[in-house]
Amino acid sequence: VLLAGLLLAMLIGSSCFVWLTRRVRPGKEILLGIKRGEFYVEYQPLIEASTGHACALEALLRWTHPSEGPIPPDAFISYAEGQNLIIPLTRHLFDLVARDAKKLKYALPAGMHIGLNLSPSHLASPDFQRDVMAWIDAMPADHFNYVFEITERTMVSEKNAGEIFAWLHQKGIQIAIDDFGTGHSALIYLEKFKFDYLKIDRGFVQSIGMETVTSPVLDAVLNLAKKLNLQTVAEGVETGEQAAWLVNRGVTYLQGYLFSYPLNAQRLIRWFRQQERL
Ligand code: C2E
Ligand code: CA
Ligand code: CA
Ligand code: CA
Repeated sequence: VLLAGLLLAMLIGSSCFVWLTRRVRPGKEILLGIKRGEFYVEYQPLIEASTGHACALEALLRWTHPSEGPIPPDAFISYAEGQNLIIPLTRHLFDLVARDAKKLKYALPAGMHIGLNLSPSHLASPDFQRDVMAWIDAMPADHFNYVFEITERTMVSEKNAGEIFAWLHQKGIQIAIDDFGTGHSALIYLEKFKFDYLKIDRGFVQSIGMETVTSPVLDAVLNLAKKLNLQTVAEGVETGEQAAWLVNRGVTYLQGYLFSYPLNAQRLIRWFRQQERL
């Protein structure tokens, strides 16, 4: 009876999941979620390989739906992108980060970089520059350096990418190429545009130590970055072995669970205090 009950519970649980995700699908839930304050931001520290200090953060959006619980960003971001909801959602991200930054600035060293993930359709929208300026206005002055993380997709799909990047640089915002090596590797764009950071996808990082010979693609990417004078960020660093290999190969920054999970503002402040004591 116990076993049958357990099976039944599992069945109900899984069909619930299907039903719930279907129910959550309507974009109305995202707009309602913004209104009801269901979104918040977690920040993951990036470690400078040469010093071992955390000198940057990546802001990652989180959504806890009142009945569905936490919904993975991969799911709601791609949905929002498909439904023209990514712009209101990113504006909300700007608001949340600006609100957190007012507290974070007292606990985090000045000069800290803060990275936000931006979607191609937002970059291409006529409101983009206004949205960015409003965000910078709302952020505490002179404390953070801004980095926008974009994927290769942006360069392929937006014919004005060059102008947009130039404008961002003029405003002091740096650009990181996210998930490098996973897209339709638009290598040509690395020469065409000026970027500041290249983020190596965690898929490559996870191959370190797993295979006897480490990915020749990862080797090539690191050589390329060096030649182009790009700083590199390795994502998804989970083991000391991976970190050591990457540092040895001259990677500039490391990010991953080995150092810290993404943390909400309050926990991030605690994490920084703890680091100072070490
Ligand atoms: P991403 O930009 O590549 O972000 C890095 C992802 O790797 C995050 O997943 C982070 O939690 C995860 N991660 C960090 N360290 C490790 C590690 O050591 N091991 C493993 N296995 N994973 C690690 P998350 O937060 O689930 O976000 C997934 C994706 O959703 C992001 O990938 C990004 O593409 C998108 N996303 C998240 N927040 C935003 C946002 O505010 N705006 C936009 N446009 N996209 C966002
Ligand atoms: Ca990212
Ligand atoms: Ca990434
Ligand atoms: Ca990713």
